[in-house]
Amino acid sequence: MALNGVPMQKAKAKWAKLDANPNIIVLETRIVDNAACAARDFSIGETVFQEEPLIVLPRQKGEEVEVFNKLEQIALTAGLGGNYLFSIYHFSKATEETKGRILEFFCPDLDKEGADYKRYIAACKAVVALPQFNNLDPEDLVRYLLVLRTNQHATGRELECSALYELGSKVTHSCEPNCLCTMNGTTIEYRAIRNIKKHDMLTFSYISAFDLWKSTLERRRIMAPARFFECCCSRCVGPDYTRRMRCPECKDPRMLYYMPGQVSFVPTVGEKTETPWTCKNEKCGKKWRDDELNLGLEQKIVSAVISTYFDVQAGTIQDRATAKQMLQYCDQELGPYHFASALMVYTQLALTHSAIKNGHAKAEPPEVVLPLSERLMYWFCINFPGTMEEANIASFLGGLAQLHGAYKLGARFFSTALPLLRVHWKTDHPHIVDMEAAVDLHGDEKAKKHAAIAK
Ligand SMILES: [Zn+2]
Ligand SMILES: [Zn+2]
Repeated sequence: MALNGVPMQKAKAKWAKLDANPNIIVLETRIVDNAACAARDFSIGETVFQEEPLIVLPRQKGEEVEVFNKLEQIALTAGLGGNYLFSIYHFSKATEETKGRILEFFCPDLDKEGADYKRYIAACKAVVALPQFNNLDPEDLVRYLLVLRTNQHATGRELECSALYELGSKVTHSCEPNCLCTMNGTTIEYRAIRNIKKHDMLTFSYISAFDLWKSTLERRRIMAPARFFECCCSRCVGPDYTRRMRCPECKDPRMLYYMPGQVSFVPTVGEKTETPWTCKNEKCGKKWRDDELNLGLEQKIVSAVISTYFDVQAGTIQDRATAKQMLQYCDQELGPYHFASALMVYTQLALTHSAIKNGHAKAEPPEVVLPLSERLMYWFCINFPGTMEEANIASFLGGLAQLHGAYKLGARFFSTALPLLRVHWKTDHPHIVDMEAAVDLHGDEKAKKHAAIAK
């Protein structure tokens, strides 16, 4: 049995019950101990599996208010969030079999001398001193809290609960996933957003769509402390296309970072190098070490761009002049392929869109908006095509193109968005129906053909 050429073993018998689902096989890979893999081929849009939670954990206080008050007090004393220990109440009510299954979930090893562990164990010892919880073991509770930290899903109608899913927890993170995870009540459903081959590892993204725009460096910075792992997906170990920058020598913006020989799900070739940066301009081709580049400036620009993005989302920045200036600066210093520049393009277009919605119909002329829209679409097309992020942006850009009278371009964007947004929403969702109508009316043959995928 092999995954992209990597030999794998069938996972230990304890996961055999998960194999009862005919679509799934749990395999041991060289990186992930128990990875849910496809038991057959799947095409885009197909449901791979659905699952009910093993345990549901409301984040609010329950009926026995006094007990929750005590848990809150202990959590606050330990420097944890007030409702951090409420989940212990629900754990204590679970059957012994369920408790055992929960403690079998993947859980990181914490350094017993570290501040994290000390805080957890102090809190858990205080909890088991309460009469309601004196049959629980504090070490088990620490493990339980860590299981939650690494495996829980937000769930419920308003995502007001957390929950643990046994099979869902074996779907590995990837920065270019092949599945989308959706919720219906507390039932999770994994659907294919790429064509999946038998024995491929099933993957979905643990991080937000926004974070997936970022460079490998930034994504790993987000995941390592929260999830206790360094992502080894194909995007993380391959060339970092969303961090392409200007070469200090020739200023070509296609200078690419690639560190070969990293630990990975997929076989990698080559050995680690001192000079991971290569200028892709054939006439230059110069190689660089990290310390030969002004990475401090890159970091400053990235921080400024991200905070501007959030200010725009929150509505605290509305003037497009700032966004334009920042985009110019990003283009000049980092070049058009860096994710910071792409984020500023999006930010500028989002500001234009909200200005139009607020009654400024001619906020920006089409000759400004449409080339920027094409530029952003192209950025997705070369960096991560066939992803939910690309589909969401394509849908946004299609609407914007329509507002500027560019119906044919709008239809092209919608045709890019439709296959995956159909997987996400229902086919009769009004937005899907509108996009399909726009493609029928204004799309060329190519757009119509693409829009029909997964229909
Ligand atoms: Zn990754
Ligand atoms: Zn160069």
